[in-house]
Amino acid sequence: MKGFVHVYTGNGKGKTSAAMGLVLRAAGAGLSVFVSQFVKDGRSSEILGLKRFSGQVQVAAFGTGRFLTSPPAPAEISAARRGLARVRSVLEAGAHDLVVMDEACVAVSWGLFSIEDLLSVVEAKAVSTELVITGRDAPVQLIARADLVTEMREIKHYFHSGVAARRGIEQ
Ligand code: ATP
Ligand code: MG
Repeated sequence: MKGFVHVYTGNGKGKTSAAMGLVLRAAGAGLSVFVSQFVKDGRSSEILGLKRFSGQVQVAAFGTGRFLTSPPAPAEISAARRGLARVRSVLEAGAHDLVVMDEACVAVSWGLFSIEDLLSVVEAKAVSTELVITGRDAPVQLIARADLVTEMREIKHYFHSGVAARRGIEQ
């Protein structure tokens, strides 16, 4: 069966949550899943939760978990590039039905790797693998390549009233 390329972008809440919701559904259907996270350091609750499904869902984080600086720290760049190489090998192998690249759009917009590098990984995917890429500011070239693009549009967000990310709800 052909696998499609999804992009979840926009400023509203729900991009990572939507990707993780799809992972839950895929796991329920007995599919094999690989979840990668860029920028984040692997301590997010969604990653801790997915570790409970370790028979079917593999997880890997490729960030430092620190605030992104401009220019980005060398450690952040090397972690992201290592992650991209790992996802490429997972996608080429085709052993997973669903692969998630959470915050990969953020990695591009912060210059951790280029859009060309990301597109080349998308092109390397096995035909049958479904690929989900999330993050604000999806590059136009990625939107052009994707089969499904959803923009989470912010209508209201408590972040603007000073509510920082909460454990179990945002992180
Ligand atoms: P979720 O993980 O809840 O599905 P998301 O993936 O759509 O959300 P991200 O852009 O990945 O959202 O991360 C948003 C996080 O960044 C929030 O936890 C919030 O605390 C913080 N944040 C920073 N700036 C903003 C902003 N302008 N609007 C909303 N959240 C913001
Ligand atoms: Mg997110």
